[in-house]
Amino acid sequence: MAEWITGSCHCGAVQLSLAGPPSVVTECHCSICRRYAPLWAYYQTDYVFLTGPTDIYRWGRKQVDFHRCNTCGCVMAWLPRGDYPECGVNARMIDGFDLGAVTLIVEEDSSV
Ligand SMILES: [Zn+2]
Repeated sequence: MAEWITGSCHCGAVQLSLAGPPSVVTECHCSICRRYAPLWAYYQTDYVFLTGPTDIYRWGRKQVDFHRCNTCGCVMAWLPRGDYPECGVNARMIDGFDLGAVTLIVEEDSSV
């Protein structure tokens, strides 16, 4: 991946840097995502930098941290707690994100 792109929460306190734009985003319908309503873009954790003050939510097996801005509440990303190599970034936070330019996958998983 070549060109780094940026994003931020609504108030601007939390910033994202990503190694390239996503080509695919996932709308997940698990119990947490159907409430947060992010569009997840999956990246290797080495290719994502999240800076600024976030609050964290963990649930279930507590394998991931959901990060949201502690001022405006925007859900920015989930990051693995162990050495899992991938993370999910909320593509809605990417500067100039164009849903029409990516492939949207809808995951109808209401079991978790
Ligand atoms: Zn914010």
